[in-house]
Order: sequence, then structure tokens, then C-alpha cells
Amino acid sequence: MGRLCETEGLTEDQSEILKAVRTFVEEKILPVATELEHADEYPTEIVEGLKELGIFGLMIPEEYDGLGESLLTYALCVEEIARGWMSVSGVINTHFIVAYLLMKHGTEEQKRKYLPKMATGEIRGAFSMSEPALGSDVAAIKTKATRTDDGYEITGQKMWLTNGGSSTLVAVLVKTDEGADSVYKNMTTFLVEKTPGFGEVAQGVTVPGKIDKMGYKGIDTTEMVFEGHRISAEQILGGEPGKGFYQMMDGVEVGRVNVAARACGIANRAFELGVAYAQQRETFGKPIAEHQAILFRLAEMATKVETAHAMMVRAARKKDSGQRNDVEAGMAKMLASEYCNEVVEASFRIHGGYGYSKEYEIERLYREAAFMLIGEGTSDIQKMIIGRSVLKDYKLKA
Ligand SMILES: Cc1cc2nc3c(=O)[nH]c(=O)nc-3n(C[C@H](O)[C@H](O)[C@H](O)COP(=O)(O)OP(=O)(O)OC[C@H]3O[C@@H](n4cnc5c(N)ncnc54)[C@H](O)[C@@H]3O)c2cc1C
Repeated sequence: MGRLCETEGLTEDQSEILKAVRTFVEEKILPVATELEHADEYPTEIVEGLKELGIFGLMIPEEYDGLGESLLTYALCVEEIARGWMSVSGVINTHFIVAYLLMKHGTEEQKRKYLPKMATGEIRGAFSMSEPALGSDVAAIKTKATRTDDGYEITGQKMWLTNGGSSTLVAVLVKTDEGADSVYKNMTTFLVEKTPGFGEVAQGVTVPGKIDKMGYKGIDTTEMVFEGHRISAEQILGGEPGKGFYQMMDGVEVGRVNVAARACGIANRAFELGVAYAQQRETFGKPIAEHQAILFRLAEMATKVETAHAMMVRAARKKDSGQRNDVEAGMAKMLASEYCNEVVEASFRIHGGYGYSKEYEIERLYREAAFMLIGEGTSDIQKMIIGRSVLKDYKLKA
């Protein structure tokens, strides 16, 4: 069957882009990933290389100076990049979600102002829904924007912002109308401009510092504190308050395809490492790959990698066809992230004691895989979305 994670029916352009990204991963990411990760060092050179490849503008339409590619192309690039180092895919993910939100929901003025500079990577995006007391339960957001004579004032605390330090444009979901009974009326997305770095990054906005994490290192994950941040109504995504929840849920659907793609990339790499090690390591007079227990483990790993890839591609293609893909994205995200953890653990076991050594790449993948279970909604949350949908579609007729 050849290599895993190959995709049928790609255009010549898609194949060319993927080939360029694959080469970049082999030459510029894989040789340095583990060292940078262990040092928790920001991958500055890699990010510059991605800018040159046009990755920051991959899905931004050509009229705004991007490459105008599909979600599928984007997801396949993310899969390749995560195979090299998952943190690098995190650098582009929140950027991509903000660009997507602008493309889909921004006013023409907002698109012209931000998208061309986002395409080059000069402006870098982060998005923020989570708070210290909530992640899954987005409707419980407490950070609020109150009206002033000339705009709004935002107060509250946000948590877990991927690229919170390095970004310069943050899409922030807040409460705007406490009186309205529905999340489809009382939440608004603001486009908050800031300087990169830590400390006071804009009037009334503080980014305290990097959160020290188990994995997903190199990339900055932060809190963001708003204390009377004054902001113009022009910075409301789409120009009208009350539409934030709907906009963010749309963004999360593409974000879930992205996390599924990342999980596929990690799983594919874990498989490659496992299948190579199993042919080198000998026990009881033969390579361990020749023990049936290991061979079966490799077979299960390969099947899981292929299945997750197929689900991810299906979810991306559905969104590209202009339809909602909440269920497909939820299924792909849940399955790919769960399989990713299983495949990584299987590869870790194949490595025996060496898997526990920081000298072996699988140790890094083991810590990175765990985040796939959390980002863009846990498996429990995906199950809620999938479960509600199947009950609706299979409702018994009275
Ligand atoms: C490294 C990192 C980066 C992140 N980046 C971002 C970012 O850029 N922007 C952003 O907005 N957020 C970000 N997040 C936040 C992330 O989206 C949340 O952590 C995630 O959605 C889970 O929310 P929580 O941590 O509050 O867990 P909780 O919502 O408190 O859930 C705790 C547990 O309860 C389960 N649970 C919750 N509700 C239910 C239910 N109804 N039924 C069954 N089980 C349930 C969950 O599955 C979980 O197992 C990031 C998180 C991390 C760790």
C-alpha cells in the first residue's frame, strides 16, 4: 500500500505545496525539534521559513494577498508540520482561526485592514474564549464589555491563550448584553490589537508571562488580563454586537479539523519511529518486529493512523464544500486524538526502556499527544455534539 497518510484526488497545486512543506519539515524542523522542545525555545527560524513558504496566508483569498487554498490543503500541511513538531503547527493554528473568522465574518474594512498583513505573517493572530473558571462551557464566559460614550470597555480574565505573547491581534469572546437570554445574542467577538511580548501589551491589557506546560513547548501559552481596556465599536468582528458565539463556534469547527490533522501528524511520526525501532532491536535472537505481538501492534497502529487520516480529510472536504461540518469535525477530532494517544503509547512500548529516555523522540511525542485530547474541546464535548446530532437524525417517528 505504500506510505501512510497519502491523500487521493489532490490537485497539482496541492501536491506541489505539500511537497514543499514535506521538504521543509525534513530539512528544517525534524533535525532541531527535540532540542528546541527540551530547551522550551521559540522556533524563530522555523517561523521565518514558514512565512517564506506562504503558510501564514495559505487560506487567505488571493485578493487579500494570500494563496487562496482550501481547508483540506491547510489541514494536510498542518499534518506534515505536526509530524515534524506539533508546537510549530500551534504557531499557525490560532493565526489561521483568526484569519478564517475575518474571512467569514469580518467587514470589508476589517478584511482589508488585517488580511494582507496576516498573509505575510506581519500580523499574527491568537483567539481567546477560555477563562480560569471555564473551557468547555463557553456560555459561562464572565469577561464583559460595557458600553461607553465612544465605544466599549473590557474587563475580565482570559486563560490559555496559545500565542498570547507572540500575537499582535487577538479575537476575544466576551459578554456584551447581560440582559439577553440567549448566547446567540449576548456575546461579541472583539479584535484586540496589542504589541508582542509580556507585561502591559496595550492600554488595560496585561499578559503576565508564559504558562509552564508538560509538552507543547517552545510556543507561548498565556493568560490575558483586561482592566478597563477601551476599544472602539469598529473592532467588533463583523461590526455588530451579539454574534460572537456563532462566529466562534464556526471558527472552532475548522480548528477541530486542524487539531485532528495535528493528531494524525504525531501518530504518523510515532508509527514511523516504532516500525523502524522494531526492525533494529533484537530480543531472543531476532528483530522484535518478528515477534507476533509486536507485528500485531504495528498493524493496529498503521490501521489507526490511516483511519484517523481518512476521517480528517472527510471533515475538511465537507467544510470546503460550503456545508457545516460540526459532526464530521467532532468525529475526526475525537477519533484522531484518541488514536494518536494509543499509537504513541504503542510506539513508546515498542521502544522499551529507551522510550523513557529524553534522547528518543518518542518521549517528546508522548507528552505532545496528551494535548490533542484537550485542545478545541475534549472528547466528552465532541461526544455531546455527535450524540445530539445522531439522536436528531434517528429520532423515532411518533
Ligand atoms: C496548552 C493549551 C492551549 C490552549 N489554547 C487555547 C486558546 O488558544 N484559546 C482558548 O480559548 N482556549 C485554549 N485552551 C483551553 C482549552 O480549550 C480548554 O482547556 C478545553 O476546552 C477544556 O476546558 P477546561 O480546561 O476548562 O476543562 P473543563 O471544561 O473544566 O472540563 C474538565 C473535565 O470535565 C469534562 N466535562 C466538562 N463538561 C462536561 C459535560 N457536559 N459532560 C461530560 N464531561 C464534561 C471535560 O471533558 C474534562 O474532562 C488551551 C488549553 C491548553 C491546555
